[in-house]
Amino acid sequence: MSERPGPANEDLFARCFNSSPTALLLIELRAPMFPIVNVNSAAATLFGREASALCGSAWEQAFGSASPFAEILQGLRDRVAVPEALGTYTRDSDPPFWCQLRLRIILSHDGIATHALCIASDVSQQIDNEASRNYLATYDTVSDLPRIHVYEENLSAELARAIHHCYRLLMCYVNVDRFGVINETYGFDFGDRLIHCIADRLAECAGSRERVCRLAGDEFVLAVPDLNSDTDQWELAQRMLDALSEPIVLDEIGLRLTASIGVACFPDTATSVHELMQQASVAAREAKRENGGDSIRVFSKEQRDELDERLRIGAHLRNVVERDELELHYQPVIDAGKREIVGMEALVRWRSPQLGLVMPERFISLAEDFGMIAELGQWVLLRACTQARSWLDQGVGDFILSVNVSGLQMRGQQLVEDVNRALDKSRLPARLLELELAEDVIMTNVEHVTAVMRELRKIGVKLAMDDFGIGQSSLGHLQRLPVNRLKIDRSFVAAVPDDVSAARISRAVIGLAHEFGFTVVAEGVEKPVQLAFLERNGCEFVQGNFFSVPVPADAMLAMLRRPELRPREEMGDDQGGTILLVDDEQNVLRALARLLRRDGYKIFTASTFKDAFEILGTQPVHVVVSDHRMPDGKGTEFLGRVKETHPHTVRMILSGYADLGVVTEAINGGAVYRFLTKPWNDDELRKTLHEAMRMARQDSATEAES
Ligand code: C2E
Ligand code: MG
Ligand code: MG
Repeated sequence: MSERPGPANEDLFARCFNSSPTALLLIELRAPMFPIVNVNSAAATLFGREASALCGSAWEQAFGSASPFAEILQGLRDRVAVPEALGTYTRDSDPPFWCQLRLRIILSHDGIATHALCIASDVSQQIDNEASRNYLATYDTVSDLPRIHVYEENLSAELARAIHHCYRLLMCYVNVDRFGVINETYGFDFGDRLIHCIADRLAECAGSRERVCRLAGDEFVLAVPDLNSDTDQWELAQRMLDALSEPIVLDEIGLRLTASIGVACFPDTATSVHELMQQASVAAREAKRENGGDSIRVFSKEQRDELDERLRIGAHLRNVVERDELELHYQPVIDAGKREIVGMEALVRWRSPQLGLVMPERFISLAEDFGMIAELGQWVLLRACTQARSWLDQGVGDFILSVNVSGLQMRGQQLVEDVNRALDKSRLPARLLELELAEDVIMTNVEHVTAVMRELRKIGVKLAMDDFGIGQSSLGHLQRLPVNRLKIDRSFVAAVPDDVSAARISRAVIGLAHEFGFTVVAEGVEKPVQLAFLERNGCEFVQGNFFSVPVPADAMLAMLRRPELRPREEMGDDQGGTILLVDDEQNVLRALARLLRRDGYKIFTASTFKDAFEILGTQPVHVVVSDHRMPDGKGTEFLGRVKETHPHTVRMILSGYADLGVVTEAINGGAVYRFLTKPWNDDELRKTLHEAMRMARQDSATEAES
């Protein structure tokens, strides 16, 4: 505005000043006590004073020297603007409000600071919003417990104190049972209030809200410092269960809660906040899985070792497909009546440079946990189909190739595509491929899985239900499932015919399968009595170590070329017993064979572990004698693998050279029966072998009797 205020304008400015909705106070700077010379009605209202009472008062006299008025007083003294001063002000009997003051210095035409304008406002609302924003960021509003990032900070501080003062820190992971049902029955609002009650009770157990955190819907963790290091972990968890089971009454509804609680301890098993949480959660999951709820598990050192082992294996498992460390072995499936090979199951193995040969039971679930099962499954499908096609191309007659499919592969939509691609690429006719799905996989998500199964059947592949008998099949579902075969779980086969209930279940499964038009495969047949029982009860197909363990592809081809397969026990002349000698030096093999044949043993020799496994896959071997230092690995590791695949063999090392620690470990782990040194003494060696053979044959005799 260029116009200078004349008398008429002064009046206009006064009226503007007065009608401003913002509280304004004009202060004289040239008088020592800074009197207030004018206030508008908004300021009078804001401070709850008459304008006339404020006008003429010195600043300090009117407002005192507490914040935010002190900051303004300082600005007046220094003649500098104050961008913002914030503090509370109480007006009459109202609750205090957040008062924001700003100060502007007003200069005369010749640049002298004559006045100051104080602009005041009530910012309680903004502050409240901000405070609630802070609260929201720090606390979970349903439970009023600290949020995870805050909690982790609290916990780290607690852990630091525990380290400094040498005490233990116990962590409980609490998973409230059946909370979902309560939520669905009484509504989410009820559920939220219940969560608050639970939080209160847990906070009481922990001694402070800051020590408790809600991780997910009905999952809590709480940390309890164990100052005297004498708290029993079970008792602590039991106290929590007791606290939760005290009746809770909400909206006149009375409830008693139970929970699955896992406990972990620093430093007994965990060394960090992350490990404490992880271990307690593993323990809680186990408590829930084993007992279905209302139970406690304390994370043990053994579990920690197991978890470490899983993480260690998991770390090596990454990129296993790209690194080409997987291989497939094949186990023949035999027509029980004709004793002919009618197919084979592809079973994946992982040959890890660091871990040796790893069996699927140690890494399939890890591959699922680490998100690698889809890739692994694709590899298995393509490799198995390609192998099968190559057998056909080598003139072998038709057979059924069975491939295992994991539950997670069934969950996605990709499986149908993967199967199509594997069949296209390998040119294997779809009718020769069978996919095996475990019973529990089918039954946990029966609608979706059945839909995928129908898609697969449309392609022309066959389907089998694996590990049947241990899951929760309902007859209604069974009838509608598009499967061709049931595979009786090997735990039943292992127990027949002696275990009456296993025998009954196996018989029932065979009958039921036939009722529904499925054929039956019995897995894990190891003994003649089992075979006889299964044949007698009309089981069409059998599979198991009695006929052949899973073998590499070339050994499988050899078997396919002479499909009439006799059980391993019936094969070969093994009156005196069979010995497999493994050594990379041909002259050693020759000398040993010459010596031992004299004692009536049947001798096989192999100069690599690969050859040795082929022999083991096709011949009944009683005793394995292996050199330790071989071009394709260590004898102890080889015998460790033989122990897994051929547990009934008696295994020995014959070496001029060995790491005694490793050998001792192998002996203590049961992989190696004896350690013999080169050069050997003929008589001693024969004596030891005689003893080993006696042990091995005793073993198979006991088996045949049962
Ligand atoms: P499964 O599908 O039930 O396979 C049969 C298992 O029984 C195989 O174990 C086989 O070696 C073993 N077996 C067969 N006959 C006998 C016997 O007479 N005695 C004993 N004690 N065992 C016998 P393996 O190869 O260790 O495989 C274990 C499981 O791993 C399989 O059980 C299957 O569920 C899974 N698996 C194997 N390969 C794959 C794969 O490529 N993909 C997926 N998703 N899972 C696989
Ligand atoms: Mg299977
Ligand atoms: Mg099975």
